[in-house]
Amino acid sequence: MDNSLLSDLGAALVEGSLTDEALLAETGVRPTMRILPEANVVKIGGQSFIDRGRTAVFPLLDELVENLPHHKMIVGTGAGTRARHAYSVGIDLGMPTGVLSVLGTFVSMQNARMIHYLLARHGIPFIEPVQFPQLPLYLSERQAVIFFGMPPYTFWQPNPEVGRIPPHRTDTGAYLVSEVFGARSMIYVKDEDGLFTADPKKEPTATFIPSITVEEIEALDLQDVVVERSVLQLMKNAASRRSIQVINGLKEGNLTRALNGEHVGTIISA
Ligand code: ADP
Ligand code: MG
Repeated sequence: MDNSLLSDLGAALVEGSLTDEALLAETGVRPTMRILPEANVVKIGGQSFIDRGRTAVFPLLDELVENLPHHKMIVGTGAGTRARHAYSVGIDLGMPTGVLSVLGTFVSMQNARMIHYLLARHGIPFIEPVQFPQLPLYLSERQAVIFFGMPPYTFWQPNPEVGRIPPHRTDTGAYLVSEVFGARSMIYVKDEDGLFTADPKKEPTATFIPSITVEEIEALDLQDVVVERSVLQLMKNAASRRSIQVINGLKEGNLTRALNGEHVGTIISA
């Protein structure tokens, strides 16, 4: 190949080693483009939200529909209690993490299907990973899509450091969508006001943390957190989505406020 056709970086990449730190650093100099900078990624919790049924879900979907004229939304779903049951049976039967990941994927898909049918009359499509190339069209035509939150790497899911549960679940899948598309926001809809010093369901004296960095969370060494820990890990290397927001979707108006860019809930930044 005639190297004069290549940029300096091009020549270095073609000839150099992809494990050379200095060369890798050069590939990060140019900023990545933001593909869908107006889209908001909204993840609706599985166990924390959808499993609560209509009392939780219907008011949130009403609020989501009210926001359709004003905001583009890529809506992901959690898996929840049924996935935890599937994991427990799978673990009992000796299934590896990659297989448990397949099981969890189908449960988050069940939730996405139900949310999709509830919103069907508003013309909002359900999309699988293979349909993501149509995402820009759907967002410009219909303002929102529903997808299942699990990252689609099924068997290729890495093992966790401890135990068997797939470490990259629906919080992570949604986060990665917001990062790769350079989305406007990453909003987690759960059943607590945000991050506390401990799980408020177990520790009623836990205090609310309105904003915090990933490093500060690590320094606090919390026993449990409100989003999957892998999201916090991935945020450290984020090129685009360097903050996430966790809101209590059981309180009417919170989703609207978050979509409008207001500080409601907890904002965690890289
Ligand atoms: P999802 O339904 O989106 O998967 P999870 O149920 O996995 O959400 O996580 C949300 C839950 O995390 C909350 O309902 C809360 O009980 C729990 N939680 C654990 N630790 C914390 C913490 N430090 N602050 C707030 N919530 C916490
Ligand atoms: Mg969860």
